[in-house]
Order: sequence, then structure tokens, then C-alpha cells
Amino acid sequence: MVAPERRVSVRLPSYGEVMEEVKTEVLRLVGQKVIEFQQERFAHWFGKPWQRERDAKGIILCPQCVESAGFERRGERPRGFYTHYGRADSALLQVTCKGCGCTFSPFVGFFSEKGKRYSRDLVQSLVLSALTVSYHETSRRAEREAGVKAAAITVWRELREAYQKYERR
Ligand SMILES: [Zn+2]
Repeated sequence: MVAPERRVSVRLPSYGEVMEEVKTEVLRLVGQKVIEFQQERFAHWFGKPWQRERDAKGIILCPQCVESAGFERRGERPRGFYTHYGRADSALLQVTCKGCGCTFSPFVGFFSEKGKRYSRDLVQSLVLSALTVSYHETSRRAEREAGVKAAAITVWRELREAYQKYERR
């Protein structure tokens, strides 16, 4: 007896579903890269996380002290920011001033709502150029507009991978 023919049906995701997935992934990556960018800055300002090499004196400005005695790094506070593509969940890294003891994020105005214009420009520029123009143009644009070349290149690489994954479907 011949075995009945077996058919496997595969449901292809719709274009909308795929784009929604890409968008979600892009926003996740952007949120993650924003944190990594700040961590890189912290490493530059303070040295290695487990050491107290430097205190960022003269680099970070305290909102309360005219001349701060230096800073201690702190943890991060969750912070989402809005982009043309939707909300990216991220965080802002904090510092405490050794002079007055206030805790704040030196990145407010950079990635937070107060820095809306910056965030939107950065994210739009990176996402659009990652999907449409060359690698060199992406990094040039990011450097020119945001001054975060290293982080931007990483973002672009990961976006390219996400996009290629989408293209292969
Ligand atoms: Zn202070």
C-alpha cells in the first residue's frame, strides 16, 4: 500500500508582520546601543568599571556646583525615548557629584526627552541610512550629526544583519 502523500503547509508571514518584526528589532538594538554608547563614555571618563582611576572632573558638569570636586559613577535608570519608528526602551547612566551629593545623568539632553531632536535625528539617520545607503555614508553621517562614530558603526552592522535576515525570507 502506498503511503498517502503528505503535504506540509508553511504560512508565510505578511509584509506587515515582517516589517513589524524588523522595526521591533531595530528599536531594541537602538535602545541597547544607546546604553553601550554611555558605557563606553563612562569607561573613558572613569576608567575600568572595577577601579577608581579617574573621576570625570572637568568633563561632566554638575547642575548645582560651579566647580565640582569630581564624580562617582552610579547605575542606570530605565528611560524610553521616542523615535519616528516608535518608542525605544533604554536607560540613562547616572553619576553622583562628590561636591554636593546630587545624582543625575550626564546624558540628559543627549538621549532623553529633553534631547528629542538629537535622539530623533540620530535614530532616523542611522536606521534610514542602514537600510538605504552605504556603510561609509552611514558612518560619515553618524559622525557628522551625532559625533558617536564607534557606536554608530556598531548599530549599522547590527542593522545590516537584521535587514539581511529580513531580505533572505
Ligand atoms: Zn555638585
